[in-house]
Amino acid sequence: MTTLSQSEEVRPIPLMRPMIGEAEVEAVSAVLRSGWVAQGPRVGDFERTFAKRVGAPDAVAVSSCTAALHLALLLMRVGPGDEVVVPSFSFIATTNAVVYVGATPVYADVDLVTGNLTATTIAPCLTERTRAVIVVHQAGVPADIASIAELCDPAGVTVLEDAACAIGSTMHGAMIGGHGNLAAFSFHPRKILTTGEGGMLSLPDRTLAERARRLREHGMSVSAAERHNAGGGMVFEEYAETGYNFRMTDLQAALGVVQLGRLGSLIARRRALAAGYQFRLQDVNGVTCVADPPEGTCNFQSFWIRLDTGFPMSRNDLMARLADAGVATRRGIMATHLEPAGKRWCTDALPVTERLSSTSMILPLFHEMTCDDLDRVAEIIAGADR
Ligand SMILES: *Cc1c(COP(=O)(O)O)cnc(C)c1O
Repeated sequence: MTTLSQSEEVRPIPLMRPMIGEAEVEAVSAVLRSGWVAQGPRVGDFERTFAKRVGAPDAVAVSSCTAALHLALLLMRVGPGDEVVVPSFSFIATTNAVVYVGATPVYADVDLVTGNLTATTIAPCLTERTRAVIVVHQAGVPADIASIAELCDPAGVTVLEDAACAIGSTMHGAMIGGHGNLAAFSFHPRKILTTGEGGMLSLPDRTLAERARRLREHGMSVSAAERHNAGGGMVFEEYAETGYNFRMTDLQAALGVVQLGRLGSLIARRRALAAGYQFRLQDVNGVTCVADPPEGTCNFQSFWIRLDTGFPMSRNDLMARLADAGVATRRGIMATHLEPAGKRWCTDALPVTERLSSTSMILPLFHEMTCDDLDRVAEIIAGADR
């Protein structure tokens, strides 16, 4: 039996690693020392910095992107009897938010190249009951929201954006979140910026943001932090409608402000690494890499490839071969309508969704990844027929 010596052991390449530095540790420690750890002034700071960064009039911090999507639907008063068009080709939370408000998800298929909804895939799903469309910028690839709005606006259908993966991606020269729609972002560690858990809803106007702030805090007319600051407890709150506990903590928000300051350099690095993959894999038969769409730029939150019949092995066999070599990958984006929890909403065939979901996979991409790492991954893929 042969065993690998220390030097021969292959260093594992993870799928993703959050970029957390000393500045984050300092910021969270300062909040701990301040004695105010729940939603407070740091959440306000994070909201203002975030809104400015994406170019939105306002932003409301919440406990997750799922909560932000739920809140967006509540703000639009979407409920029982309403239909909301969503992609099945997304993380299941997109569908779940629609189910939470009692509305009916209607699955539209996606474009094979971007993995996103388009006006063409949405159009056949619109009925007189359609209230909204949730456009997902899948894996950070920005969807063409302008042409989707051209279809939806005249029909009175609201466009909401699931931008869980899309912080820092741009479309038609503006950052995602800055196109005048409600857009929900995630700060789960699997995304580019993290607050441990957390989400943000960017909003096109302040009045809507006021209601969003009440709904996220049990429907209270005056926040707990404001009552505290007023002193003496002589400010009484009112509960005009049923709210939720969707609050973010000041610990998370302090982390978020520092992370947001890194956005430019994180994306520059991701784009350079993505270009490195695209270059190394361009001549490999049967492999198509994710790329910037026309008029948009991608943050490469996830670098995915699609295999077609020209490739010598199945997606799962390639994943197994990479795993044997210490390279972590994930299957591509899920098809929600094939899961037991999503099946009941499915009416029409979704051929592109099923094809993409079964033939795509996500490759490692993280800030400290090196060109040697890229070489290692690409060589295994290019050598799949050997
Ligand atoms: C990650 C993700 C979510 C959920 O985000 P959470 O912050 O974990 O709630 C929703 N939609 C999409 C497309 C995602 O990728």
